Formats: sequence, C-alpha cells, structure tokens
Amino acid sequence: MSTEPQTKDFIRNIVAEDLKNNKNDGRLVTRFPPEPNGYLHIGHAKSICLNFGVAREQGGVCHLRFDDTNPVKEETEFIDAIKTDVSWLGFDWGENEYYTSSYFEQLYQFATQLIRAGKAYVEDLSGEEMRQMRGTLTQAGTNSPCRERSIEDNLDLFERMRNGEFGNGEKVLRAKIDMAAPNMNLRDPAMYRILHAHHHRTGNEWCIYPMYDFAHGQSDSIEQITHSICTLEFADHRPLYDWFIEQLGIFAPRQYEFARLNLGYTVMSKRKLQQLVAQNHVSGWDDPRMPTLVGMRRRGFPARAIRTFCERIGVGKSDSWIDMSVLEDCVREQLNETAPRAMCVIDPIKVVITDYPPKKFFRLGPGREVRLRNSYIIKCNDFICDEHGKITELHCTHDAATLGAAPEGRKVKGIIHWVSQAHALKVEVRQYDRLFNVESPGASKEGVDFIDEMNPDSKEIIPCCYAEPSLANAEIGVPYQFERLGYFCADNESKSDALVFNRTVTLRDSWQKAK
Ligand code: ATP
Ligand code: MG
Repeated sequence: MSTEPQTKDFIRNIVAEDLKNNKNDGRLVTRFPPEPNGYLHIGHAKSICLNFGVAREQGGVCHLRFDDTNPVKEETEFIDAIKTDVSWLGFDWGENEYYTSSYFEQLYQFATQLIRAGKAYVEDLSGEEMRQMRGTLTQAGTNSPCRERSIEDNLDLFERMRNGEFGNGEKVLRAKIDMAAPNMNLRDPAMYRILHAHHHRTGNEWCIYPMYDFAHGQSDSIEQITHSICTLEFADHRPLYDWFIEQLGIFAPRQYEFARLNLGYTVMSKRKLQQLVAQNHVSGWDDPRMPTLVGMRRRGFPARAIRTFCERIGVGKSDSWIDMSVLEDCVREQLNETAPRAMCVIDPIKVVITDYPPKKFFRLGPGREVRLRNSYIIKCNDFICDEHGKITELHCTHDAATLGAAPEGRKVKGIIHWVSQAHALKVEVRQYDRLFNVESPGASKEGVDFIDEMNPDSKEIIPCCYAEPSLANAEIGVPYQFERLGYFCADNESKSDALVFNRTVTLRDSWQKAK
C-alpha cells in the first residue's frame, strides 16, 4: 500500500514541490490558529485535517496557536475545549502550543520599529470619522490630519497609549501606507487599539492590543511558519501581511488560501453558534444537533468519519456548498463496519406468545408469519384493540421447529426486531433532524433572521423505549446499530437507571428523498 495521501490537492502539491526544491532549507511548518472565542466546528476540522495532515504526511510539524488578541471575547474554557477537540480528531501538536499573547511585547517592538521608520502614526480621529474618510471601492480615501505627526510625537503618544493615559477608542495606531490604494486593507489600517480589559493570559499588563491583521502575519513569522494556510477571505489581506513583513525585514511565511467549508442546513459562524447557545435555542455547545466537534462527538460521530469527510470533500480554491448527507454517509459507512448490533424497540406493541410462557414485544400484522430476529417464526392468530380501535396486543403462537434456521422451503415475509418485556431496559431515545429548515440560514430571504429559520422538529424525544439488557453497559458516545432503526449511542445525560440514547444517523439517507 502506498503511504501517499489519497488525495493530492493544490496545497499538498505546493508543499511537495517546495520540499523537493529544498525551499526553507527543507523545513515544513504549518499551524492551526484558532481564536479561542468559541468551540471548534466541522469547518475547523477541515483546516485541522489540512494543516496537521500535510505536516504529518510530508515530515513537517504543525503548531497549535491560539490567536488570543481580543481579551473581551476569549475564555480559558474555549482553549481547553479546542485542545480536547484537536486531540480527539487524532492530531498531536506535541511541544508546539503557542499563544499570540506571548508575542505582545515583540509585537509592540515591531510597532515602534514601524513608527521609527515613519511607517506608522497615532490617530486621534474616532472610529466613525476614520470610516468616513476611508473612501469606497471606487473613491480614494482622505489623509488624516494626524498622518504627518513627527516620529518623536508618535513614539511618545504610542508609549502613553501603552501606559494607560487614554481611554478606550481615544487613539489608534495606524500603518502609514496609502489612502488611495485600490485594496481597502492598505488604506492606513489600524494596528493597535486601546482596550482597558483583563486578558485571560496577560491579566492587566496591557491596555493596548494588536489588531488581528497586525498580529497574525508577524506571529507566523516569529514561529517561522513556512506555509501559512488560511481561507479565501484572507486573500485580500495578504498584501497587508506582506507589507508589514517586508517593512520589518523579518522571515516571510508564504500564505495560501483555500475554500472554506460551507455545510447546508446549519450555521458555522461562531457568532451565530454563540447566539444559539446564549439564547437557549440548543442545550449548549455540545447539543447533538450542533455542527461543533463536541456536539458531533456526543452524537456518536467517530473522529475517523470526520477525517474521511474532510478527505472526501478535498481542498480547492472556489467556494461551494456541501450537503450534510456527505458527512452522514461517512459516519454511516464507518459505523456499518464497526458498530456492534443490538435490539431496541422504540414504538412497542405487546405480543403475547400464547403457547410459550415469556411475553414479548414487536410489530406484526394479524394473520401473518414473521421471524423474530435470532429466534422462532411466530404466527399471529388474534389481536386486542382499545376503545379507539388501536391494536394494543397481538396473540401469536410460535413454531418450535424454527429456532435458528427455517425448515426447507419455509419463507416468511420479514424478520422483526424484538425484546423480551420481562428483561428489557426502559430507555429514552432522542432522534435528531436538521437544525434549520433552509440550506443557508439567514441568507435565503432579505430581512429574515437565521433564528427564524430553525427547524422546530429537529429534536424528537421518545421517552419510553425498550432495549435489550446488554445495553445497560453501553459506553457513553459509542454507537450501536439498533437493528432496522439506525445507529445510536448512550448520551452523557444517561443515569444508570435512566439510559438516554442519541440517534447518531439513520440506516439510510432519508434526507435526500425528503428534500
Ligand atoms: P468565525 O468567523 O466564525 O469566528 P473564524 O474563521 O474566525 O470563525 P478561527 O478560530 O479564526 O475562526 O478559525 C481558525 C482557523 O480555522 C482559521 O485558519 C480558519 O481559516 C479556519 N476555519 C474556520 N472556519 C472554517 C471553515 N468553515 N472551513 C475551513 N476552515 C475554516
Ligand atoms: Mg477568525
């Protein structure tokens, strides 16, 4: 078997070519740079599989770097969750765990270096005024009156910003590039802002924080990242990153952009996911309907299936939508191979075997014969209805000669899953459907909020189901195939006397048909 990755995409090709040409002295360093302001989702998995995957396949290393430049939105909870998720997906950053906040002093020095070179200035205008003077795509911006401040004044003001002499938003450090640049990112972008806020790692040491665009490229440079892989929307920022690096005269990583994953019938913006959690539209980041890795893990999606999915969708340069069924197919394919089989009845009807002492549950039409899975062929002779005419009990006889295999020539219509009422566990089953009713929530109709496009029937709780007794030992999160029903795993809300099972996926893709 070849050790080559199964799919070669444009990034893997570039990396292979660079290594062949001994570029960067044969070093290969990538990184996955999450902002710790939420839990990871399936889109992040694509980036993780790419960055860690390329490094692993081609003998490099991949850093895990927390891009923690925004003290207001970031929490230690998210850092821990991100580490757990990356490990769970099957990747190891080893010693290479980094934080942009560790570079705050270095980034400050870079900023003063640019001021000294006449390439940055302290701005007095408000954010609103700056926006107004920025111009448009078709119109050049206007130079700020602060643009011609002396280097001495700028150095002095920037130091005083650091020392806390100004309030939030009173001053900003800007790069001095070109207010008429066709690329708006080059119109004297902000580098540092004032924010009197506690940072989860640096505490109250800083009251000025670097903007993402000033921190990101330099952090890559400090870590000597050779291939800085990001999503397409950063292509327009690349000239700015390159400008900073060139002015500073430091190691220049090369940036490559790939198309982000868009998955139908869900949302992936962290702001939207955060809103779903904060407003209790879901039970938490780990709600099994969420596109988060914690949610998928709780639902029973195996990490390997997610890696297979990322491999299957590939890495390209144009944005496209992937159907959720592609992910579910990967889960189904793997569980079909690995999940132990078990029996559970979620819509029970009582069956009385009139010629055999134990009582059993299952479904069967009157006057017909079926096989009870792994047991006898039984025949329905009679039934009992309640006052509404609903059948509540079937009375059947069993054929003792049919245990295991049927005698020659004996065919039955079906095989039915069943459990013995006397021995069964009473369990709760939760079945999930799409979280949203439309493919692209919040973008389908003008003025419609994504929350209003949630599917009200995305969670169905069936409180009284009967499962075979062996499921008492089901490990949390490890799926079983409940025969004829789908794949299910025990939920972490299970108690020993009240088991809860989540449906991971159905046996077949019913979604394509329903659409
Ligand atoms: P959001 O905009 O919702 O906050 P983000 O992209 O800013 O998400 P980060 O924490 O900055 O989230 O992302 C870390 C890495 O994951 C980035 O390199 C980013 O490109 C990548 N990433 C995020 N979403 C996707 C996606 N849908 N597909 C592929 N890569 C993604
Ligand atoms: Mg981001």
